Amino acid sequence: MLQLLSGHKPHESLIEAQNKANLAGDYTTMKFGTKAVHAGVEPDPSTGAIMTPIYQTSTFVQVAPGDHNGYEYGRTHNPTRTALQTSMAALEGGKHGICFASGMAATDTICKLLRPGDEVISTNDLYGGTFRLFTGVYEKYGIKFHFLPIKDGADLASHVNEKTKLIWLETPTNPTLSLVDIASVCAAVKDKEIKVVVDNTFATPYLQQPLSLGADVVVHSATKYIGGHSDSVMGAIVTSDDVLAERFYYFQNAAGAIPGPQDCFLILRGIKTLHIRMEQHCKNAAVIADMLAAHPKVNKVNYPGHSSHTGHEIAKKQMRLPGGMLSFSLASDSVDAAFELMKSLKVFALAESLGGVESLIGHPATMTHASIPLEERKKTGVLDSLIRLSVGIEDVDDLVADLKQALDKIA
Ligand SMILES: *Cc1c(COP(=O)(O)O)cnc(C)c1O
Repeated sequence: MLQLLSGHKPHESLIEAQNKANLAGDYTTMKFGTKAVHAGVEPDPSTGAIMTPIYQTSTFVQVAPGDHNGYEYGRTHNPTRTALQTSMAALEGGKHGICFASGMAATDTICKLLRPGDEVISTNDLYGGTFRLFTGVYEKYGIKFHFLPIKDGADLASHVNEKTKLIWLETPTNPTLSLVDIASVCAAVKDKEIKVVVDNTFATPYLQQPLSLGADVVVHSATKYIGGHSDSVMGAIVTSDDVLAERFYYFQNAAGAIPGPQDCFLILRGIKTLHIRMEQHCKNAAVIADMLAAHPKVNKVNYPGHSSHTGHEIAKKQMRLPGGMLSFSLASDSVDAAFELMKSLKVFALAESLGGVESLIGHPATMTHASIPLEERKKTGVLDSLIRLSVGIEDVDDLVADLKQALDKIA
């Protein structure tokens, strides 16, 4: 009986209740693919339904005040959400999974740990929405953000002080696919009261497990690879730190940025094929990266699987495979050429987002990174002609042919 938080006592803390759901199944000994299919998802105790139902309800009937099955109100708990949270925790090898209405809601929840005067050190080429949240929302509460080109722990030394509370890492980064040595950064602040957060959206837990490398918190836009079908928006936090988890469950309930049960169901369904999809994304991306690198109209390819990439050695150390994302700039670094190429594609669709089964193409300078000032953008290599690919799981021959015919069209 996983979905029912059975044995729940009145006024039991949220964390104790979710712990019971997590511990009902021991997923720690399972291999990744088995966890992806099974973690958190047990036959429904009331009907035997093999899939966790969509509990589309806002409230739960109590036998007497405070006497219930662990579910009182839909903001606080929902069985479909419990299943997803258990699954996310298992995939990342963490104790606690806490899900949110979006990746940004999850990121926002982590920021709620901060107080005026606190400082955060972050990678400088990070997701545009995260940059916007830090500078557009939290700076005005007196929190200071430092954006640095971080490769490893040595890059932090001169910036860490007694006010530093969080290190915020994204690896691989968006859209230049730069890598950060997670273990090295964690080791550098190990003896300090500083928490390391890793946005693991690009890699997914199949390719990279930050908690096992020493990170305290993993955050996801599960909208992307985790869900994998471009049909819902979802965020998740995973941690093994009980104190932090208690805070996150508290914020989840207090601030209420919760995901709906239908979205939890869709993400759970996506997770079942995460390992298979990631293998194919990575295979296809490797073929495309090689083709682009050899193409005369391409200037530079950013792909961690190439030995020429600055993060190649780090990728080999901390990632199972180099991932399904890559970006490239054109020999003629012009916006016009980039637009011409994108317009000519037939299989790749022009859209924001990434990580779905279908291949997407994007122009960071005018799309995902439009909210980042030009000056910051250029510093991090987001050139005018930079094109980002989220390589899908279609037949790679069709993807290569599509890119080749589009490259032929540009001057
Ligand atoms: C999309 C994305 C986010 C934000 O997630 P949403 O689900 O869109 O709110 C955060 N980080 C990265 C790396 C992303 O790609």
